[in-house]
Amino acid sequence: MSSTPSFSTSRSGALFERAKAVMPGGVNSPVRAFRSVGGVPRFIASAQGAYLTDADGQRYIDYIGSWGPMILGHDHPAVREAVAGALGSGTSFGAPNEREVELAELVTRLTGAERVRFVSSGTEATMSALRLARGFTGRKYIVKFRGNYHGHADGLLVEAGSGLMTNAEGALGAAAPSSAGVPEEYAALTLVLDYNDPAALDALMGSRGQDIAAVIFEPVVGNAGVLIPTPEFLAALHRVRDHGTLLIADEVMTGFRLSLNGATGLLGLRPDLRCWGKIIGGGLPVGAYGGRAEVMEFVSPQGPVYQAGTLSGNPLAMAAGLATLRELEARPGLYAELGEYTARLATGLREAAEAAGVPVSINRLGSMLTVFFQDAPDGSVARYADAARSDTAAFAAWFQGMLARGVYWAPSQFESIFTSAAHGDAELNATLQAAAQAFQGVQS
Ligand code: PLP
Repeated sequence: MSSTPSFSTSRSGALFERAKAVMPGGVNSPVRAFRSVGGVPRFIASAQGAYLTDADGQRYIDYIGSWGPMILGHDHPAVREAVAGALGSGTSFGAPNEREVELAELVTRLTGAERVRFVSSGTEATMSALRLARGFTGRKYIVKFRGNYHGHADGLLVEAGSGLMTNAEGALGAAAPSSAGVPEEYAALTLVLDYNDPAALDALMGSRGQDIAAVIFEPVVGNAGVLIPTPEFLAALHRVRDHGTLLIADEVMTGFRLSLNGATGLLGLRPDLRCWGKIIGGGLPVGAYGGRAEVMEFVSPQGPVYQAGTLSGNPLAMAAGLATLRELEARPGLYAELGEYTARLATGLREAAEAAGVPVSINRLGSMLTVFFQDAPDGSVARYADAARSDTAAFAAWFQGMLARGVYWAPSQFESIFTSAAHGDAELNATLQAAAQAFQGVQS
């Protein structure tokens, strides 16, 4: 067990104090602040393979992977060399470059999307895809699902998942809109339904389908904890297209993670548009949206829907994305290996929780997993309201127990963890040993 320096004297603690004086909450993205689990967030000094090292020199087995991008593990040689190689040729041109063509060719080949547009974050991707859907259909309304997070564009901050579920002030079940600063008029254009409720979706489409530009969804949810779609729900999602409504799969988290063709490939989806982020940039800031040529040709300068970006197609970011996707393509067995590691993790966690008498319900698909602290069969947490029943105090205690033992789990009950190609037997055994002890420390 690694000893954790006391917060008051730790370098992370000192950095956090300095950070709070100059940045809201001391962070640049809310969940990093540890508000829902308490304590001082660790400031990370370096990352290698499956490990993070904090500013105090403590090492952690990393189950966040930068919230998804680091599927190959940190500091992968192919990615490092690609970025270093690009660096010598200049860092930003504001003009077309060959790497963006190469990455677009690779993404279209792997996913079957006919056209792709690169942006710099997942938020930009979903925001742009929705503008495109509205421009293409001439309709105003969109549908999203409770607990799904699609980035922080105004119209999408409506019942929007983890950061909002666990924010100390935000509390569970926040009414729409779920952020201050979002005019009700914007939020009113976003219709919210329960995930995994095909009857509600059919009913809404039956009554208002002609007004709805797009239905956007996480094909496997990560942002309410992992929620897995039922076949009936997926069928209802595909039926929205009968109304001339575009189906937008937000694969920012699942893209290139659940398979080379994301959840679309794994679950046999037929979306009109898809959004990507995270892995597509290999740890550098990249997002993208793409799909059928007929729709994508509506994007400027080809079409009337405006969207642009100073750093879009940035050569360093393109190099990191290319190296990552090429490496994934060169290792066809990797997805099975990730799934196997994560399945063994799930089994071990269940055994450890049972031994300690702590009720948990585990959802896992591929290399995504959530341990919900509640008494329900594994795989039964299907909707936001189910996830919200979890005991967040018990989760926080377990999280702290894991952290103290050198395992960096996602600091929120309502997140997926991510495993990587760098996680092996040594990491699995150490994680399960830490988990067993951390469960013993949870008051149930
Ligand atoms: N969509 C999904 C499914 C996400 O998980 C996220 C971020 O976690 C986003 C969109 C937003 O991406 P970004 O944080 O890159 O803006």
